[in-house]
Amino acid sequence: MTDCPYPDCAGEAKISSGVGYCPVCWQAVFECPKCQARNRAFARFCRRCKAACGFPERPPLPKGPAMLAALARLPGEVFAEDQFWAAPASCCGYLWSVSTRGRVWRINPAGRRAEVAASLGESFGSAPFRIRSLAVEEGKPADPHLIASNGRIVKSIDLANYQVFEWIAASEGGRLLSNMQTDGYSAVEADGEHVYALERRDSACYLLRRNVTTKGLDDFRVSDGPVGGPFRMNGRVCVYSPKSLYVLGDAGLAELPFPGAAHAILSPRDASGFLLASGMPPWRAPHDTPNVYVPGIDGSSPAYLYVNVLAHPARSTNISVPVGAACSRDVEDRLVITQTGSIGVFDGPAALPRHHDQVVPKGAEYVEGPLTAAFVKMAGAGEKIRFYYDDKVQDAPLPEKIDAIGFFRAGSCFVLAYFKTNNSSLGFAVWDV
Ligand SMILES: [Zn+2]
Ligand SMILES: [Zn+2]
Repeated sequence: MTDCPYPDCAGEAKISSGVGYCPVCWQAVFECPKCQARNRAFARFCRRCKAACGFPERPPLPKGPAMLAALARLPGEVFAEDQFWAAPASCCGYLWSVSTRGRVWRINPAGRRAEVAASLGESFGSAPFRIRSLAVEEGKPADPHLIASNGRIVKSIDLANYQVFEWIAASEGGRLLSNMQTDGYSAVEADGEHVYALERRDSACYLLRRNVTTKGLDDFRVSDGPVGGPFRMNGRVCVYSPKSLYVLGDAGLAELPFPGAAHAILSPRDASGFLLASGMPPWRAPHDTPNVYVPGIDGSSPAYLYVNVLAHPARSTNISVPVGAACSRDVEDRLVITQTGSIGVFDGPAALPRHHDQVVPKGAEYVEGPLTAAFVKMAGAGEKIRFYYDDKVQDAPLPEKIDAIGFFRAGSCFVLAYFKTNNSSLGFAVWDV
C-alpha cells in the first residue's frame, strides 16, 4: 500500500500513536483521528473525510517497556551548522530555529536532516522567537507562524508555505527589544488575532499590539525601567518590571506588585544564582492556569516570584531556589526545580517531588506523565542521560562538549537539543519512539 500523502511519493508512512513520517520522502505525516487517512504535516482538513484536523504535537508516548526499549537504542544525530542564541521549538513534526544571521532552520529529526527553510534577515535570531497560530486572512484557518524580531521590525513566517509577513515596525527613534544580551529577557508573542512586542522609546518601555486582520496598532506604556516579556498566560498577555507583573485586559495594563521586598530580574547578567536552560525565556506560565512564575531576588537569594493573577487580591509568594538547583519546565510549562536527588514540579506555590538518585541539575530536565529525563553523574563513569519511567530506568550517552537546551517531542521522535560549546551551532540527539 502506498499511502504517503505527499505528491509523487510511493512511500508507506510509518505511524505510531497517530504521528510518523514517510521513510521514502522523510516528510512528517499524521493520521486522521476519524478515518485514519494519512495527512500532510500542515493539513487542516483530512484529505479523505474532510474533517477538521491538525498535527498532534504531543501524542501519547509508548507505554513504559516499549518507551524504554526505544530510548535504549543509540540516538541518531543531526547538526545545524550556524550560530544560534535562541532555543529551537517544535511544530508539525519538525524542530525550528532561527540563527543570529536570521536564517530559519527546519530540522527533520526522523530524516536526520537540517536545512535552511527561509531567511528573515540580519539579527533575527538574537532573542527567543515564538511559534503561534495566526489567522492572517479573515475566514481562512490559522497556520502556524514563526514570529521573531530584529530591533527594527517583527516578522512572521508561515511554516506551511514559508510566506513572510511584516507586523510591527519600530517607531521613529524607538527600538524593539530583541537582543538577549543587551535587552535581557525579551521576546515576541501572539494570540491568534494579535502580535505583541516591547519597544523602548522616549526613555520608557511600551507594549505594542498589532491586530493581524484589521492591522490596527495599540501601545501601552509599561514603565521607565527595564521590562521583560511579553508572554501569554491563560489567554492574556503579560509583561513585567522589577517591581510588578502587568496583565493586559480590556482596560489596558493592570499592575500586580510582586510580594514583599522581592524584585524580578530582567537580564541573564543578573541571574547568577539561577541555573537555566540557555536560549529560552526564564518565565513560566503553565497552560490553562492563572499562575505566573518569574525569576527574581528575595532578600539576597534567588527565588521564583509566583503570582496567581485571578485570585483577588492576587495571591503571590516567593519560591526560594536552593543553591545549586536548576530551573526548567515540564510539557505544560510548569516550573520544575531540580536539586541533587530530587525533581520538584510546581502546582501553584507548592512542588510535587519526584525523587531520583544521582541527578545532576542542568536546567534541561524533562517531565511528561510517568517519564522523566535528567542527567546523572556516576563515580568514574562521567555524566549520562537517564530516562525514568515509573520506577524503571534507561541510560543513554551524553554528547560531548554541549550546553543542553532541553528535550523536545517532534512527531514520532524524542529529541535532546543542545548548543555545541565550541561554536554555538545546534546539535540534536534523536530517538525514534
Ligand atoms: Zn513520502
Ligand atoms: Zn479523515
